[in-house]
Amino acid sequence: MSTGKLTIDLNAIAANWQALSKIAQVETGAVVKADAYGLGVAQVARHLATAGARQFFVAVAEEGVALRRALGSGPVISVFSGHMHGDADLIAGANLVPLINSVDQMLHHVEALPAHPFGIQLDTGMNRLGMEPSEWSALREIALAQNPTLLMSHLACADEVDHPMNEQQRALFDDMTQGLDVPRSLSATGGTLLGEDFHYDMVRPGVGLYGGLPFAAAQPVVTLDLPVVQIRDVAEGETVGYANAWTAVRPSKIATVSGGYADGLIRAMGAKARMHSDGIAVSVVGRVSMDLITLDVTDLPTPPKSLQLIGAHQSVDAVADAAGTIGYEILTSLGARYARNWRE
Ligand SMILES: *Cc1c(COP(=O)(O)O)cnc(C)c1O
Repeated sequence: MSTGKLTIDLNAIAANWQALSKIAQVETGAVVKADAYGLGVAQVARHLATAGARQFFVAVAEEGVALRRALGSGPVISVFSGHMHGDADLIAGANLVPLINSVDQMLHHVEALPAHPFGIQLDTGMNRLGMEPSEWSALREIALAQNPTLLMSHLACADEVDHPMNEQQRALFDDMTQGLDVPRSLSATGGTLLGEDFHYDMVRPGVGLYGGLPFAAAQPVVTLDLPVVQIRDVAEGETVGYANAWTAVRPSKIATVSGGYADGLIRAMGAKARMHSDGIAVSVVGRVSMDLITLDVTDLPTPPKSLQLIGAHQSVDAVADAAGTIGYEILTSLGARYARNWRE
């Protein structure tokens, strides 16, 4: 096997969903956009449905179609981008619930698919998607007359527990939805952890299911092992990799592993990154290249057959730190070349 081996622990994903559901004490959806954050939407969503999830969320209608194929007809699938022009056949064919973002989308939806279920996305300050308070007051009576399935909004700063934006958005969401007999949802993973006031009728975690921050208590989900292609001896003063970026200061053993930036191992992580061999950390030396990474394994007691980048000794978020990014980006960048293995 010459590609990296990506192992996805489906039971850990289900356990994380159950843990978040226990915290929220309300209906707990599952966000499986972007191929379930890179981990395989069909396998992940089927496993979550078996664990009891009944509400799924995707970013775009095309993802909803693939998800419907994987899940069959039972679960509700909602689409964050709402009803975009050209999507009517996909929405009707796969029985998707568009989360309507604007007056324009609303008019288009009732014209293209009259009586087809929809939800409403409200903007409470993030200014990314959803109707602003003024739009909503103009449209509200018309929209409510058509029985929307959900009123939702999204928090901009929920990963910062003490950020004043959280309470500001919560108060505005309350204000915009007060007294309406429609289920409400405000929180993703971060908001779910902010407490009961943020739970409403449904929470919709994504990254926490996959073992990422801000759900610090999550069970780890992903293991990534990269096979060693070659180990060589490098003399003091010799250099390794593009641009001679690393120079040996002692006689060294250098392992070259299969995996590089084409596999989502972000080049910027460079020499800050480490990998593990049976729990012992080794450092990346030189530049991350397209298909290969070099590491200093001089101090290992035995030559390794593979090195682990993500797993028990180093989380997705620790790798993200080394690359100056967030766990979400590491997960969704995981490359197409890995041999994926879903463990139940
Ligand atoms: C991606 C997304 C989520 C899930 O967010 P996480 O931070 O991954 O839990 C929930 N709601 C909306 C609108 C989103 O775009």
